Amino acid sequence: MLPESVLKKAASEMLDYNNTGQSVMEINHRSEIYQEINSRGEEKLRNLMRIPNDYKVLFSQGGATLQFAMVPLNLKNKSIAAYVDTGIWSGKAIEEAEKFLKVDVIASSKNDGYTYIPNIPEINSDYDYLHITLNNTAVGTAYRDNIPTSKEVPLVCDASSCIMSEEMDVSKFKLIYAGAQKNIGPAGVTVTIIHEDLIRKDVAENIPVMLSYDTYASHESIYNTPPSYSIYMMGLVLDWIDEIGGLKAIEAMNIKKAKLLYDFIDNSDFYASAIAKDSRSITNVVFSVAEKDKGKAEIANQKFVDEAKKIGMVNLGGHRLVGGIRVSIYNAMPIEGVVALVEFMKKFELENKVANSW
Ligand SMILES: *Cc1c(COP(=O)(O)O)cnc(C)c1O
Repeated sequence: MLPESVLKKAASEMLDYNNTGQSVMEINHRSEIYQEINSRGEEKLRNLMRIPNDYKVLFSQGGATLQFAMVPLNLKNKSIAAYVDTGIWSGKAIEEAEKFLKVDVIASSKNDGYTYIPNIPEINSDYDYLHITLNNTAVGTAYRDNIPTSKEVPLVCDASSCIMSEEMDVSKFKLIYAGAQKNIGPAGVTVTIIHEDLIRKDVAENIPVMLSYDTYASHESIYNTPPSYSIYMMGLVLDWIDEIGGLKAIEAMNIKKAKLLYDFIDNSDFYASAIAKDSRSITNVVFSVAEKDKGKAEIANQKFVDEAKKIGMVNLGGHRLVGGIRVSIYNAMPIEGVVALVEFMKKFELENKVANSW
């Protein structure tokens, strides 16, 4: 979702941005007007996330999926990296990294269906970096107070589904990347927050210019034509976050939304969440109709998803590799949406509890 006020603002400026007589989509990316959109977006992001001055903020294309390759390509030195395997997206990051360096999977919750965030052992300094997936979108787990410290090994995280959903201490990481499209904008732009120490000039000589962080860092992310409209829209979303009180307010809202759902699920014997309580995501709530028979459970979950859709609640199906029900409550989802869902869950339970009509 995007905030309605943001969509309305964008609509009102569609034909004429700031008395330029042009749409943002038509503005020359080398013009002062566009440079201002770009630098204002960066400044907002820096302020809201309190990004220290020795970090660069880069806007690129290719999604988080391209970061799966850019991270190893740019950080490779000893050619070995540590990864934590916490689900589908970690797996994809690992698979991609293995094309460029040796990957050590130092912890995994795979054997328990990725239902928790595993403890991470002390690691030695031989690794080029340690990679974690901060919020596991498909399975519904997240690091809460257990973000690892990796001493001299740079900590890298995929924050695609949790960036700016709560306060975050940027200085714990050396590199954070996220596609904008889940919490802070439309598809098309990816944000990378990277400590200056990790940007290497020499790397650019050996890899495609568009895959080198240095290219973006030394050209304010306007080396070639940037995804200008996505960056403009992201700027509007960041204005909205600022207006409602910044990350502190967003965090309070998101925790309230998630708690409403988890409390309801925990107090129900009709629904169940398999996720360990200390590993629960506040942006992706994954659960299932409590039914021991897996086949029956999937039929029940499908019925839930289909009936919800009929009353306008869409995208509730679990990730295709996970199944079940997934409620993504990103920043722009208002609490009213969650209240309405809980009402639907109560009704669905009443109608199906005795009948077991799947
Ligand atoms: C959505 C998602 C991705 C993929 O993002 P793209 O921008 O589509 O490449 C990667 N990692 C996580 C954790 C995600 O939630």
